[in-house]
Amino acid sequence: MVSTEYERRIAARFATFDQDGNGSIDREDFSAAAKALLAEFGVPARSDRGQALYAGAEAFWQGMAGIADRDGDQRITRQEFVTGAVKRLRDNPDRFAEIARPFLHAALAVACTGTDGRAGVADTARVLRVLHVPADQAEAIAAALDTDGDGRIGEAEVVPAFARYFTVPE
Ligand code: CA
Ligand code: CA
Repeated sequence: MVSTEYERRIAARFATFDQDGNGSIDREDFSAAAKALLAEFGVPARSDRGQALYAGAEAFWQGMAGIADRDGDQRITRQEFVTGAVKRLRDNPDRFAEIARPFLHAALAVACTGTDGRAGVADTARVLRVLHVPADQAEAIAAALDTDGDGRIGEAEVVPAFARYFTVPE
């Protein structure tokens, strides 16, 4: 099989969602990501921030399933991801941003050491590493997210960047 640049990029996006690497995307990938983030930052699951993160993860999963789980078996296969999710995300990145926003908002709140709901670059890199971004890339990606250069990363910076990452041109 010829591996084009496009196919490689799609495979990387799929792997981002398939957090446990079992070959499909399902609810467990999202809840496990939430659990790992709470553990990393020592935030109790029963706290407001913990509950918001789990709720955001569930909403993210439901949104993705609505887009891509065509046979309704509560799993998004690689094939469903390629034929369903990738095309629809490309056609409608704003919709994707709305699906992801509650989770991203809650993740930043978990990583936030202040009161503004934003996270520092180092803490954002910790979030990325927990989500299996390679450790040697996490710091640079986090720094690039800080588009206004004030050293803190907020929802207004993360949500569009996330949508851009998953909008893969053919
Ligand atoms: Ca999985
Ligand atoms: Ca499915």
